[in-house]
Amino acid sequence: MIEVSEALEQMLHHSQPLPLKGVPLMEAVGCYAAREVLATVALPGFDNSAMDGYAVRTADASRGGKLQVVGQHAAGLNTQNLQPLGLGRACRIFTGAAVPPGADAVVMQEDVEREGEHILIHDDVDPGQFIRRKGSDICAGQILLRRGTRINAATIGLLASQGRAQVDVFPMPRVGVLTTGDELIPPGATLQPGQIYNSNGPMLEALLRECGIRDVIRQHVADTQAATVLALMELTAQCNAVIISGGVSVGERDFVKPALAQLGLDPLFWRVRMKPGKPFLFARTTGAQHTCSVFGLPGNPVSSYTTFRVLVQPILRRLMGDPQPLAHSHTAIVTETLSIQGDRPHYLHGEVKEGRFHPLGLQRSDALHGLSQGAALLRIEPGETIAAGTLRHVIVG
Ligand code: AMP
Ligand code: MG
Repeated sequence: MIEVSEALEQMLHHSQPLPLKGVPLMEAVGCYAAREVLATVALPGFDNSAMDGYAVRTADASRGGKLQVVGQHAAGLNTQNLQPLGLGRACRIFTGAAVPPGADAVVMQEDVEREGEHILIHDDVDPGQFIRRKGSDICAGQILLRRGTRINAATIGLLASQGRAQVDVFPMPRVGVLTTGDELIPPGATLQPGQIYNSNGPMLEALLRECGIRDVIRQHVADTQAATVLALMELTAQCNAVIISGGVSVGERDFVKPALAQLGLDPLFWRVRMKPGKPFLFARTTGAQHTCSVFGLPGNPVSSYTTFRVLVQPILRRLMGDPQPLAHSHTAIVTETLSIQGDRPHYLHGEVKEGRFHPLGLQRSDALHGLSQGAALLRIEPGETIAAGTLRHVIVG
């Protein structure tokens, strides 16, 4: 049996990001940037108005002054044909439109009175007001995106504003989810006596989606070695990672280890000092072209959930190109004094609300309702007492 920290270290040591790939922007959401991106154009690209109003010259646009309105500038106006603004004149202008040469301020339309072809200015006018200067947000050559940054909606907006349609990312892994068990039937089917619904399949796929991974191949096998071997052969050939649920313990009906052995795959480790989740195993296929990480999760749903969050998710982050796959902790103040029985660290599940963690629901490896009450995880060591009010790290996904 090895410690959680040792298990993570070994798995990370054997995991590398997938080779980088240029993808359309919409495919890049949630991916990590594989290369630095530099700005190719300045933004704004030209001096433009931040308001609907009038472009003026501050030299002749004081409070109480009167200017003659000439011309009208709207967004989209060709900036090569701009006429300079003459003395004593104002130009009608709309948000985003280019400011005419000579104008050095925009007066909001709410701050003037229009009289036919003239405006009367009500307020003082400061040089530069309501003009967004060329390059004031981004200069050409500036770093827009660093390697290893996770791409979100704001990043996508930024790249699109530079006219980019593609970006180089570490692609998302394709992940196989293999559930095992004679007793399981899919949700939607009718239960026969002694059967239960397969909840780990959907839950693990949902956990993958929460990580941003959508390329998931889900399979279920009965408890036979032949079926397990066949499914593992198929999935490890097609996927970058395979998550197995159930069948990793020592019962006569647990076929994951014998199946891996038949395939010549020796687990790097089996059994981790944690509760729930002890029978977790990790193996790896290695080939010249293709490698696959294989995670064996105990079948009890809360054990599957906990081992996914604690042991699988950091490795998926590494495959996704996250430069700091372990640095995702959140902190919360524990609301009640806690201690545990036994000689393994426990991961208690609970709710985090406004920065405060409190255990919630039945803490039992099969008790999914308990988990659904609060799925943040707090680690507590054997023999330790966590006093109410202590600030601790919690895993919230
Ligand atoms: P195992 O790890 O295969 O010994 O399974 C441990 C417990 O988890 C048993 O009670 C199983 O019925 C249950 N279990 C295993 N796989 C699933 C699953 N996919 N969905 C729900 N429960 C499961
Ligand atoms: Mg089983």
